[in-house]
Amino acid sequence: MKDRILRLQDTALGELAALAGKDLDAWRVKYLGKKGELSQALRSMGSLSAEERPLVGQVANTVRAELEAAYAIRLAEWEVAKERAQEAEETIDITLPGRTPRVGAEHPLAKIIRRIEDVFVGFGFTVEEGPEVEWDYYNFEALNLPKDHPARDMQDTFYLSEELLMRTHTSPVQARTMEKRRPEWPIRIIVPGRVYRRDDDDATHSHAFTQIEGLVVGQGVRMSDLKGTLLTFARVLFGEDQEIRLRPSFFPFTEPSAEMDIRCIYCGGAGCSTCKHTGWIEVLGCGMVHPRVLEMGGYDPEEVTGFAFGMGVERIAMLLYKIEDIRQFYQNDLRLIRQFAAQAD
Ligand SMILES: [Zn+2]
Repeated sequence: MKDRILRLQDTALGELAALAGKDLDAWRVKYLGKKGELSQALRSMGSLSAEERPLVGQVANTVRAELEAAYAIRLAEWEVAKERAQEAEETIDITLPGRTPRVGAEHPLAKIIRRIEDVFVGFGFTVEEGPEVEWDYYNFEALNLPKDHPARDMQDTFYLSEELLMRTHTSPVQARTMEKRRPEWPIRIIVPGRVYRRDDDDATHSHAFTQIEGLVVGQGVRMSDLKGTLLTFARVLFGEDQEIRLRPSFFPFTEPSAEMDIRCIYCGGAGCSTCKHTGWIEVLGCGMVHPRVLEMGGYDPEEVTGFAFGMGVERIAMLLYKIEDIRQFYQNDLRLIRQFAAQAD
């Protein structure tokens, strides 16, 4: 009898070692349950002698206690193993490709402005800014464009009142700077900013666009200084062997006035559709500051002279990046930005 119980213990423990989950419960019922094998063995104790009975009973109790302990241990082991397996399943799969954050990029116009600023800051210019809503006085009158001047027609804009308008160029900052700095010189500034015209939007016109203006005022400033400055600028921006030419033109605020062309960057001067087969591309307007403008700015034209220039940033960006429609700059299409994000300066 005692041997039978001990054999039962061996068998039960042997089975228990490999069990998990529901099988564990089945094992408990099979060996420790009311109708389990141990109970059945004990039930047959009636056939034992009076001396044997307590002995076997003691053995049976020890075996029961051991089996219960073994069961508890095995159950705990299995539960821990189960948790670990779940944790392993939940672990982040580091082999999955990550979600790359989108990195911002400079708008092509902002990029061109920065490049042009860099060139002129290198020449000793400072960057100035002015209001986009401007007085008629600074936008026109101080620039030698009195109220009845016919050249005003070329720069029709949006009026907020009789005297207040959306500035048509960045040139009012010339007048504002002279007024602020007089009678001191030299003045060497560039002025980037948004300007407005009453134009119908098409591939080459926009009612709002961006200009960069330049002004130099000092003693003995000559046309050759203007030409040298612009040639160096053109070479930094468009290539080391770039050439420029100045064509006579008219602006009310400069005298003499000129348009500056660069040798066509697409055909090198041979002639193509972009340069309309002339070999040259117009880039900016410039000239010597009109004596009247210096006077209105508070300077004596007998004492100082100056030069000024102004360019459309969109035009430069369109040339450099081969963008064919000016409207693309304002449509907020991220594809345009991304296209230039990867490009180096
Ligand atoms: Zn060409």
